[in-house]
Amino acid sequence: MSFDTLGLSADILRAISEQGYNKPTPVQSKAIPIVLEGKDVLAGAQTGTGKTAGFTLPLLQRLSANPINNDGRRPIRALVLTPTRELAAQVGDSVQTYGRHLPLQSTVVFGGVKINPQIAKLRRGVDILVATPGRLLDHANQKTVDLSQIEILVLDEADRMLDMGFIHDIRKIMAMLPDKNARQTLLFSATFSNEIKQLANRLLNSPELIEVARRNTTAETIEQRVHPVDKNRKRELLSHMIGVHNWRQVLVFTRTKHGANRLAQQLEKDGLTATAIHGNKSQGARTRALADFKNGKVRVLVATDIAARGLDIDQLPHVVNFELPNVPEDYVHRIGRTGRAGNEGEAISLVCVDELKLLRDIERLLKRELPNEVIEGYEPDPRIKAEPIQNGRNRSQPRNQSRGRNQGRASNKPSANAPRKSRSNSSEEKRSQAKPAQRHTKSGNSAVKRPLRSERVQEIPALLGGGFHDE
Ligand code: AMP
Repeated sequence: MSFDTLGLSADILRAISEQGYNKPTPVQSKAIPIVLEGKDVLAGAQTGTGKTAGFTLPLLQRLSANPINNDGRRPIRALVLTPTRELAAQVGDSVQTYGRHLPLQSTVVFGGVKINPQIAKLRRGVDILVATPGRLLDHANQKTVDLSQIEILVLDEADRMLDMGFIHDIRKIMAMLPDKNARQTLLFSATFSNEIKQLANRLLNSPELIEVARRNTTAETIEQRVHPVDKNRKRELLSHMIGVHNWRQVLVFTRTKHGANRLAQQLEKDGLTATAIHGNKSQGARTRALADFKNGKVRVLVATDIAARGLDIDQLPHVVNFELPNVPEDYVHRIGRTGRAGNEGEAISLVCVDELKLLRDIERLLKRELPNEVIEGYEPDPRIKAEPIQNGRNRSQPRNQSRGRNQGRASNKPSANAPRKSRSNSSEEKRSQAKPAQRHTKSGNSAVKRPLRSERVQEIPALLGGGFHDE
């Protein structure tokens, strides 16, 4: 199939061919005709599938095909909400690129940068606004944005917006938009939790469902491997692998911001150019780090999950999980940074004994075991016993809120009285998780107590108003 058969205008087709795209990706060939018909869409598309063009191209077409006569005023007609600043910037770039031959104006608003230039741009008038929820609400509160004439709403990476505690902000924004019967709504999500389904029910009007890859699966083009290694030798192994294989561009994930900083510094000491990207860095520092990584000045970018969300680096060949994520779905998001749009990629996980439970959770989600390879010279020491994983902060815990009865604390501090139990079935797991004690397996491996998915669903109300934006 080629782009010409999808019903897109000549100006848009020209922009597509200038980008060098020859044929639509599966999500594009499915989504574009449906969006052009004006229908709502619920799309399960993981990152790297070309989903941005999947909604941007038909959105541009619909707006340009129906210009409105407004006496020179330009109301905002399309709103794209994204979870992170980086993703907003990238979607904004796509809107500009694909719309370069159209008489439409667009802008991007996100936090961490001055608001006044954004206000000035909004005042001049834009047709398409790409925004992160927090900054959009700042504008709404200052009455510098009017969302009452939105014709098309896109929620991009909706699962991540919920994970980041944006549900409250999203609700407030929805109250400022035309009713769901009076607008077109497109919801994109890599994963489908109950929360996403509930959100979709509230926001979408008889949506068409599009699914391009099996849920919670990873792109076929990504080669995945696990290297068992002791925790205190991970950094050494990482430097070794980068050097031996002469990797020029590696995205490395850590669980915490502090861990990201420390690892970047250690890699620098090993003679590798490295920098960290996370939510404690200023927007300027984040943009610089990303630019240096993209243009090859920096060889290793160490990132936390949320900061890395939305990073689109063309043909990124290597992703390394220096530490496995606490939430298995994050593994899918992380390794989706490579193998994008059909390119080949490699995703490597350095896994220590503490993380075996997290690895099992990931494999359960993927419904397959990941290939496992011990690197000579880095064999794990069998005498080392698992320890509870120390996290900077429980991800599902809003800031400034004391820990709940069944949460968090146990993951940092094993109880001396904790019963030794084998994990025989999930109901037992549930029961043992209901106690504020550390679970231990028969093999002596202790596993981090983490709420089950179903419990996390129930935690969502606790996140409301948690001020948990962009890390
Ligand atoms: P996305 O999933 O939207 O983040 O897109 C992933 C990457 O695929 C981006 O680098 C796009 O530029 C690229 N891309 C999108 N559509 C196509 C296409 N039809 N052909 C080739 N590359 C594409």
